[in-house]
Parts: sequence; C-alpha cells; structure tokens
Amino acid sequence: MKMIRRAFGFWLILLLPFWASPAQATDSVSFTGNFVQGGLAIGHTLPGARVRFAGKQVRVSAEGLFLIGFGRDAGPTTSLEVVIPGGMAESRILTIGKRDYDIQRIEGLPQKKVTPDAVALKRINADNALIRLAREEDRDRADFSSGFDWPLRGRVSGVYGSQRILNGKPRNPHNGVDIAAPEGTLITVPASGVVAMAHEDMFFTGKTVMLDHGHGLTSVYAHMSEILVKQGQWVAKGASLGRVGRSGRATGAHLHWGVTWFKTHLDPMLLTGPMPRVTPKP
Ligand SMILES: [Zn+2]
Repeated sequence: MKMIRRAFGFWLILLLPFWASPAQATDSVSFTGNFVQGGLAIGHTLPGARVRFAGKQVRVSAEGLFLIGFGRDAGPTTSLEVVIPGGMAESRILTIGKRDYDIQRIEGLPQKKVTPDAVALKRINADNALIRLAREEDRDRADFSSGFDWPLRGRVSGVYGSQRILNGKPRNPHNGVDIAAPEGTLITVPASGVVAMAHEDMFFTGKTVMLDHGHGLTSVYAHMSEILVKQGQWVAKGASLGRVGRSGRATGAHLHWGVTWFKTHLDPMLLTGPMPRVTPKP
C-alpha cells in the first residue's frame, strides 16, 4: 500500500507540469475542516510542498499535512499559495463563512477581577507572557490528526465569539467554550499533545493547563480545581487532564476550553460537533 501511494505521488509530481494549467492544478491540495470564522482546516498536500497562508509560510509535515485557522472576524476571503516539489505554484482564494455572535452579560464578578489593580496587572502580564510563549511554538508533530473529543460532558454555558459585557462594561469577545459541570468532574484530554504549560494559579484562569497539538495548534483548560498532568509530558487522547473547578475569575464551577492556532482563537465546538446529550442517571 505504501509503495502504491509513493508511486502515485511520484507520477502526480511528474505529470502535473505537463498536464494542468495552474488554475486547474487542484490535485496538489485538499482540505478537511470548516471554512468559517473560528474554523480550522487540515490541508493535505504533497510531501515536500511549501505552503503560504495569508502571506506567511506554514509548516508542512513529512506526510504533507498542514494547518490553517480562521479568526472570529476573518474573511470574507483569504489567500493560500502552494508550491509543490518541482516548483509549480498554485494560488487559491479561500472564502470564509461569516457568523453571527451573541452578546453575553455577566454580572456579579468580583470588581478586582474585572478592573485589576497595579499588583494584579503585574501578575496578569506575567501570566500572559507564559501563554504567549506556549502559543508561539511550532512543533513538528501532527498530534492534531487524532481529532478532537469533548473534554467532558456538561451544559454549554458560554459559546465562542460572544461579545462580553462584564459587570456592565464591554470586554474582549469570549474566545472559547464554557462547559458547566459539578466541581471535581473529570476532564479528559480531547486530542493528543504535549503539556506546554501547567500553572497552579493564574489571575484570570486559576489552575490552567495548555496542550500543544503540533503545527501551532494549542488548547487551554482553565478554572480547574485540580491538575492531573505535568509540564513537558505527552498525553494521549482520553487520558485524565484535571478536574472542574472555579479557580481564577469564575462565577461558578465550569471548564473554559479554548483552542488557538498561534494567536488566532478558534471555536472548539467546530472541532467536536455539538455536545452529545448528557444521559440522566436513573
Ligand atoms: Zn470561558
């Protein structure tokens, strides 16, 4: 089978320059994923191809896999350029679907967690530096190809992209999904990856874990009551990650789950599909 695929790849490279005009050479790249705001697409191209997305080079795995992500306000179009081995370039304009976002009002947060003082700001900056560092990493691992499951079952109490008004003041949009569940509920690893960060006490997010799924794709787990992984460890999909809590800035026990491609926040729900029905216990 491997031989056949290799032979096929060889012929594709050989034939394309003679066969296809650049506009028709669509065999060199295909996608699975969501071409909408907050979506992630996995590209499949020829091993050794070079890919530029929105003007920046992206990593292509030895198997020809690459990632591109679309932010909350991305689009309506963006550009992709693929150069396959042999030097032929193919340019594409990608159309990104537009979404409507909710307005979410949250009242009753402790004022010092909404408008932090100087001491808190120092902590917030230190926290942000760690998060930024983890998000800059471009690991040569395609752990994301295991696909994503929900990290727990529960009521979705906050969705991606909502414009948030905290204690009456407009703030940054919500860049993840909130899943309400009783304190102590087990959280499992939704997709394999390396633990890029495990922090016991961040100002906003409390006990926080970040996973690195490769090619700039990271995920964050916030407000936990307990962390069950260690920084630097590789964790398999389905392994225990932590327990639901309300540490940091939270009004009740829930998991905040975010997925980010470098600095671009994505919608985790587009990776998993809707929350499966929680079967009530008899
Ligand atoms: Zn949240």
